[in-house]
Amino acid sequence: MSGGFLPYGRQEITEADIDAVTAALRSTMLTQGPAVETFEHALAAKVGAKHAVAFSSGTAALHGAAFAAGLGRGDESIVPSLTFVASANCALYQGARPRLIDIDPETLNLDCEAAIRASGESTRTVVPVSFAGLPVELSGLDPVRDRVIVIEDGCHALGGHRHGRPVGGPGGADMTCFSLHPVKAMTTGEGGVVTTEDDGLADRLRMFRTHGLVKQGVEPGPDEGGWYMEMRELGFNYRITDFQCALGISQLERLDDSIGRRNEIAARYRELLADEDRVLLPPAAAEGSLHGYHLFVIRVRAGGQTRLRVFEGLRAAGIGVQVHYIPIYRMPYYRDGLGYPQNECPATEDYYDQAISLPIFPALADADLERVVGELRGLL
Ligand SMILES: *Cc1c(COP(=O)(O)O)cnc(C)c1O
Repeated sequence: MSGGFLPYGRQEITEADIDAVTAALRSTMLTQGPAVETFEHALAAKVGAKHAVAFSSGTAALHGAAFAAGLGRGDESIVPSLTFVASANCALYQGARPRLIDIDPETLNLDCEAAIRASGESTRTVVPVSFAGLPVELSGLDPVRDRVIVIEDGCHALGGHRHGRPVGGPGGADMTCFSLHPVKAMTTGEGGVVTTEDDGLADRLRMFRTHGLVKQGVEPGPDEGGWYMEMRELGFNYRITDFQCALGISQLERLDDSIGRRNEIAARYRELLADEDRVLLPPAAAEGSLHGYHLFVIRVRAGGQTRLRVFEGLRAAGIGVQVHYIPIYRMPYYRDGLGYPQNECPATEDYYDQAISLPIFPALADADLERVVGELRGLL
């Protein structure tokens, strides 16, 4: 793809994907048909999970997980300050309060010790994020596992492994949420999934996805019949369609290839930047773990005006760099609306001063990577 504009992330759609979606469009069910369950089973099998419940987006999946965890008014949900706003917003949707905790400067994931210190009576959930695709070390939360529900935001880490076990599978969080947005490891256009080993949580996720309605195991009155159903909770319409799931089934077959290619690209960036003292490279996965590499974030050590100049220069050169993310507490809704403090997360602030996400997606060629690094060095 040399020469043209390079976004930071991009989907890959094959002829097989197009054929799969076309076949779904020719079928009788566009939504609530068989492809949703087929996709859920395939994804569950891929990560080794007992249940996978598909949603209309990763944000809806996080909202479903917050609901299933019983998060409500008066409760707190611990969330790292460095993540996409949806990781925290799902607590607000449920009337609960996100408690923003700083990151570990080495991994850029939640500082679990700080999270444990901040946890208390009202802490009901912790939402660790596997930032950039680096699987978060969940053992750091062991001291509170018996009294909180852990919802991993794995939106960057689908296809990755933590100590040999797929992210989203057994031995992980109580629930793991994934996004299937086009910039993520695989896509359904918009879409999301929650995986869990727990039957009760899976039931609640399914109910929440479709208005809180239950059809099975309900008792109709004496004059009521086959139409009978009960709305037991206040849910939403967060369903995904069959043609999206047809795309998901097809994309899932290439997930390992996509993650493999992302890891090759990251290795090549590391080679090309090995002698570049002016930037800091992102943390690599631990031995025996596999990075998802949704993002490849470098840090311009000088920060401030230098980072800004390098960012603008790369954009001007047709390289679609981005900054992931503006810390949540800096967002006006949180800062001004909810009065979140601005000075409690020094590691997040340091990171935010320096970060630039370089393009990373499977279709990038070696020449693209050389072009990105050449422009970057020139600007530094
Ligand atoms: C993409 C993303 C989400 C939201 O997913 P959508 O599918 O866009 O709703 C949530 N959390 C993180 C960390 C993400 O990267």
